[in-house]
Amino acid sequence: MTTSLTEKVVLVTGASSGIGEATALALSKAGARVAVGARRADRLRSLVDDASGEMLALDLDVTDQPAVEAAIEATVARFGRLDVLVNNAGVMLSGPILGADTTEWIRMVETNLLGSMFAVHAALPHLLETKGAVVQISSTSGRTASAASAVYAATKFGITAFSEALRQEVTAQGVRVIVVEPGFVATELADHITDQAIRSLAQDMARSMRTLRPEDIAGAILYALAQPEHVAVNEILIRPTDQT
Ligand code: NDP
Repeated sequence: MTTSLTEKVVLVTGASSGIGEATALALSKAGARVAVGARRADRLRSLVDDASGEMLALDLDVTDQPAVEAAIEATVARFGRLDVLVNNAGVMLSGPILGADTTEWIRMVETNLLGSMFAVHAALPHLLETKGAVVQISSTSGRTASAASAVYAATKFGITAFSEALRQEVTAQGVRVIVVEPGFVATELADHITDQAIRSLAQDMARSMRTLRPEDIAGAILYALAQPEHVAVNEILIRPTDQT
């Protein structure tokens, strides 16, 4: 028997564009009540307008631990429970190690790794009550590091390590941990790369293949969440067919 998403309460971080936005819309269409967090409030407002069901927009910077805690509490205050945390907020500021602007390293570690850890920390008491799930958006870079992606890959490897420890701590209590590792998805992610040469490479790569769409990742997330309660889909690696 599949698990129905109707009436489930889900918080999606980084929902103002790309994978987070598509996931929030797909969850809403499937009947979930969805809280969406990000820094661009205008984008969240139009997302709420497009939603099929109840959706709550939250002003959220995941690097700000009190703001993360407040977002979880606001979700529970509005909907009465929390069933799923989708830890999706992330930045990819690729570039070589030599001569790097290390403030970009700090931003990636604080957003991708520490931010997602803060969210798990705040959400876990609620997820234990509902026997809920955590969806961790990692990357193919969480399995294989490559030149010019050292710190981004380190954050994504870190997510995998944290997720496996989390899984061992909570699986016996019915909380499922799902790590999703997308390959190249057409989103705004690469637009923030400040190294011109690396940004051009990413744009060339996007033009060279049929990339994934954010909706493809949303579909994988919904598949994992819809499994019967005794089935834990712990890891999903999903690449464009054209990506070698
Ligand atoms: P987008 O740039 O479209 O989305 C990133 C989202 O993260 C935005 O909603 C942004 O919102 C949010 N975000 C960034 N910083 C913060 C912050 N400090 N606090 C809260 N939200 C923040 O890219 P994607 O949809 O591609 O990225 C989503 C996730 O998917 C990321 O974790 C990324 O690493 C991962 N991923 C993406 C791949 C791809 O090819 N696109 C491949 C593998 C993984 P705002 O700026 O409004 O705060």
